[in-house]
Amino acid sequence: MVPKSRIDEILEGYDIEDLTIATLCSHSSLQIFHGARKMGFKTLGLTISHSTKYYDAFPLAKPDEIIKYQDFDDMEARVGELLDRNTILIPHGSFVEYMGARRFSDYPVPSYGNRAVLKWESDRDKQRQWITSAGVPMPKLITDAREIEEPVMVKYHGAKGGSGYFIARDYMDFKMAVDQTLPYTIQEYCLGTRYYMHFFYDPLKTDGYLCEQGGSLELLSIDRRDESNIDEMYKLGSIEESRRHGLYPSFVVTGNTPVVIRESLLPKAFDMAEKVVNKSYELFGGMWGPFCLETVVNDKLQFKVFEISTRIVAGSNPFISGSPYADLIYPGLSTGGRIALELKNALKDDTFKELMT
Ligand code: AMP
Repeated sequence: MVPKSRIDEILEGYDIEDLTIATLCSHSSLQIFHGARKMGFKTLGLTISHSTKYYDAFPLAKPDEIIKYQDFDDMEARVGELLDRNTILIPHGSFVEYMGARRFSDYPVPSYGNRAVLKWESDRDKQRQWITSAGVPMPKLITDAREIEEPVMVKYHGAKGGSGYFIARDYMDFKMAVDQTLPYTIQEYCLGTRYYMHFFYDPLKTDGYLCEQGGSLELLSIDRRDESNIDEMYKLGSIEESRRHGLYPSFVVTGNTPVVIRESLLPKAFDMAEKVVNKSYELFGGMWGPFCLETVVNDKLQFKVFEISTRIVAGSNPFISGSPYADLIYPGLSTGGRIALELKNALKDDTFKELMT
């Protein structure tokens, strides 16, 4: 990871009146650019092979400038172009996934948020240690496939967007479907309704829902992912029957729908998010900015968190002009807008450096 002292040095050399907000052209970039423009920042899109013509269709979210790279080596070699533009990077899921968590951590351009979180998020064991030690329930882990007695979810490590995941009901099921050449994790299949809750932790805010180490926790929106083809599989009858025809369930994310949770679940939701934030300060110096708890709620109204995303998630895209929750804090503001607002406020209060790593 780039030493914090190096990032501070770079920021010393920046003209902070003339910052540029940059991110990789994909995922939630429309929202990030739209929010940054709203707060008066210059915007810069970074792209490798992704087509950027679609930005022409959305003039209010089109970045002021786009830099095209051959690959991430090229992006590394041309780091000076970003520093010359006083660039602040906004990480999102695809940026970190495509570049690689390690490489992103080492990229010497100031980035919003704590890059130390990447080590804890990208390693499934460490992620589990963080969340469970915070006192937040996760799906039970099954260490020996021969002990599968209830439906389980088999997840390949580093699988993108749930691709290749499968459900097994017993050991036979597991043996028939597993690819033993890939590392995997087996966990309890949590039956219930899925809620992907988009929180924002502001370490510098002194009002609102306050956390242990000060700072304020906000819930900006909630989505549910559309996943192909599991969401529509039921139309074909039983999964066993479909398998006989060579059709296997998959969990590839294709889109997102906005949802709200019943109000009586909000205290539990905030309690889990607060615990995870508090623990992050104990373990690795904190997690600030946007993050998402990916949860299942069962019919006893109990939550389980099956994953955490420690940055803006694409599930916040339905809320470019606000959400039922954001509207009660910042009417009409998206998560992208909230990030830009945070940067703007921090510049005013001279706390900007504290938010960058
Ligand atoms: P993940 O890569 O962990 O975000 O999982 C991808 C998708 O698989 C989720 O969006 C859920 O639909 C589903 N999923 C993951 N873990 C579980 C679980 N333990 N029980 C039920 N569904 C799960």
